[in-house]
Amino acid sequence: MARAFGHVPGVAVGLVFANRKELAQSGVHRPLVAGISGGGKEGADSVVLSGGYEDDQDNGDTIVYTGHGGNDPNTGRQIADQQLTVGNLALARNRSEGLPVRVIRGAGLESVYAPETGFRYDGLYYVEDCWHERGKSGFLVWRFRLSRGESGLPPTQNAPPSRPMPAERKQVLVVRIVRDTMVSRRVKELHGFFCQVCDLRLESVAGPYAEGAHIRPLGSPHDGPDAPDNILCLCPNHHVLFDLGAFTIADDLTLIGLPGRLRTANGHPLNALHLSYHRSHYGAVKGT
Ligand SMILES: [Zn+2]
Repeated sequence: MARAFGHVPGVAVGLVFANRKELAQSGVHRPLVAGISGGGKEGADSVVLSGGYEDDQDNGDTIVYTGHGGNDPNTGRQIADQQLTVGNLALARNRSEGLPVRVIRGAGLESVYAPETGFRYDGLYYVEDCWHERGKSGFLVWRFRLSRGESGLPPTQNAPPSRPMPAERKQVLVVRIVRDTMVSRRVKELHGFFCQVCDLRLESVAGPYAEGAHIRPLGSPHDGPDAPDNILCLCPNHHVLFDLGAFTIADDLTLIGLPGRLRTANGHPLNALHLSYHRSHYGAVKGT
């Protein structure tokens, strides 16, 4: 059966299932044990948060979800590095393809958003970010920031009781919103809007176009600063590749994963700590 992304017809956000078997039969989350339902080539259609990982963070609208693998099945403790395979790779694909993932919270989750009993369907989330880091156990874990989509908002008390579910969307529109700040605007001007990797400058009727790429990402849990020494001037292609970790930058500004060296500009020094953060969280994993 083909993997179906999006809401399951007839299952409203907020519906609670007594156990994993009922949840599986509904089609909301088919595996009986695995937390991630997905294939590396297709993406993940659903995840269950049930308190299995000590590194998970649940803020309601956003979740930092820890990938699977590397834990002792008996104690649940992390005993080895996680790999970017199976469900973890599936969630990474959601991010690059803009696919929604159904989120289900279980009563065992240590969170104020956990249901009192059973497993509750909490709607659609999007994978905004994916990186790796040393977890509390000292082993490498993959982390995914999930952000709730509008269609996943829980029903309010005032909603009409018999409101039909909207028809499932067959296509997902991927929208890249590049938030520009005054600081990144200044960095782009220092570089004349030429990409620091490929020296391309896109020309539009409204003038040249480039993107300000934060090296250590803004926002929780990375909390990188919106400062010139944390921003690169890149063309859209190299911005995407940088965010996805397809290349990183050494302290001497040699590119890792691409040939060449980052071009610099007078008055625009970079902070080596941010380059190092990007390498250790987004770069290729060595020796695992
Ligand atoms: Zn470029």
